[in-house]
Amino acid sequence: MRASELLAPTLREVPAEAEVVSHILMLRAGIIRKSASGVYTHLPLGYRVVKKVNEIIREEMDRKGGQEIMLPIIQPAELWMESGRWDIYGDELFRLKDRHGRDFALGPTHEEIITDLVRGEVRSYKQLPLLLYQIQNKYRDERRPRFGLMRGREFVMKDLYSFDKDDEGLDITYRKMYEAYSRIFARCGLSFRPVEADPGAIGGTGGSIEFMVMADSGEAAIVYCDKCNYAANVEKAEAVVNGVPSTEEMLVLREVATPGAGTVDEVTSFLGVQADRLIKTLIYRTEKETVAALVRGDREINEIKLYNLLGCVQLEMADVQTVKELTSAEVGFAGPVGLKDVRIIADREIVMMKNAVTGANKTDAHLANVNPDRDFKPDEVADIRLVKEGEPCPRCPGKLVEARGIEVGQIFKLGTKYSEALGARFLDENGREQLMIMGCYGIGVTRTVAAAIEQNHDKDGIIWPMPIAPFHAVVVPVNSRDEQQRGLAEKIYNSLREGAIEVVLDDRNERPGVKFKDADLVGYPLRVVVGARAADEGIVEVKHRKSGNVENIKVDNLVRYIKKTVLDELAGIEKYADRRWELD
Ligand SMILES: [Zn+2]
Repeated sequence: MRASELLAPTLREVPAEAEVVSHILMLRAGIIRKSASGVYTHLPLGYRVVKKVNEIIREEMDRKGGQEIMLPIIQPAELWMESGRWDIYGDELFRLKDRHGRDFALGPTHEEIITDLVRGEVRSYKQLPLLLYQIQNKYRDERRPRFGLMRGREFVMKDLYSFDKDDEGLDITYRKMYEAYSRIFARCGLSFRPVEADPGAIGGTGGSIEFMVMADSGEAAIVYCDKCNYAANVEKAEAVVNGVPSTEEMLVLREVATPGAGTVDEVTSFLGVQADRLIKTLIYRTEKETVAALVRGDREINEIKLYNLLGCVQLEMADVQTVKELTSAEVGFAGPVGLKDVRIIADREIVMMKNAVTGANKTDAHLANVNPDRDFKPDEVADIRLVKEGEPCPRCPGKLVEARGIEVGQIFKLGTKYSEALGARFLDENGREQLMIMGCYGIGVTRTVAAAIEQNHDKDGIIWPMPIAPFHAVVVPVNSRDEQQRGLAEKIYNSLREGAIEVVLDDRNERPGVKFKDADLVGYPLRVVVGARAADEGIVEVKHRKSGNVENIKVDNLVRYIKKTVLDELAGIEKYADRRWELD
């Protein structure tokens, strides 16, 4: 490709609307352009990356027995009503009417439409398992589309749906997808981690694993073990209960004045006690009840765990009025002792404590020497706290490390949620009707591209991993007015192309500084500079974008050198991807 013919309009300034680095660099490098809020056009460089990611995904899905199909984007509302999601999906669902007034949705996901297809076509256990997938645009009317391709309203996704005859079958398919997903992100040249996740709103019966591309800018916090393979989203990470119950003697409960001290910091410094001697009482409201959640003073509550435990639809912190009515005190002085009309849920650490400090349900007062069981009885004891770096691993003697990532893929065991709602049944070996057991498996393709940039960039621009780089190399004649340099660059460009290297010739009539800046910004893994020494001594300069290393290479050896560099790097990544990826 000649740069003079390539639509890759680079920008020097940082676009005002872009907040995150991938968004900034994609706009600056001429990779995407905005059409509307959260809706983007992929320009040639960007679309080449998308196509490469798609190809890797296709190969791995096909390898596991997936069959590619193309489902409609426009979906009839009736199917969404059948599954019950027409109402609960809310404003995120793009809805439209046809000329006859019939309701439709633009697909944000395809469980309904694929279950409808399969219930009509599959009759017998002999036709199962069935793994169907597509790579297609998805639509989600986000309240605040932002971060470019990271959270758009239109985006490219791969979604595979599996139909099995029993749970064992689903388990096999799920493991296959775990392996396929690991291979996909490894083959893209990305550093990633599979982490245990909360199945959340999609629901389902069994497990869920998220695939995270590691990046400091990632919005997801994860913990992983420094010894074993355990890794989990912090929302899901299991807390280990430390030690044994305290053997301290129980002291006499007493009230202490704590004027103006409502926070953990204020109480600990006022009373001169450590935060782990405090019991924090947090009041929540759900659609059906009021709940007091207790965690140690040095811990944070994990609202996702609490939410799952309560089995509610809505969970929010109680408002000031509710807290005041419940505790007869200002906010900051709630405690479990004597608390009425509220369900008390204690973290598992709470019942190990002796002589703790809690709010007294009285403004400017706390209770000292509070003892669980003697002074209050929790209605339930459960793991409801957030896990932090340095805590023990729940699986081995290792310690947990915190890191950030960008969720790019997720695999779910759905079970019979959709086959039941839509009546997708088959006849088993005994001629009995059974519900199909489903799984769903998504990869955000355009999100993966954005995540690749979040993980691989520097102050000058993008550093594409070789397998998904839009081109492997760029050839830059320093002085485009110099006939000899131009001729040599042209020759090098042609021989690289003949050698199956994906290459751009920067034949634009621009200053060398501009071309070098653009080469770094776009992030070609290799840059070949054809300058004065090329004509005189037959030597060109090759710069490696990732390491910054510069090497002088003889023109005669150049094609071999570039080819070897590209192939070695791709082979190294393939070799890494070929290792065993097994779900524990
Ligand atoms: Zn471990």
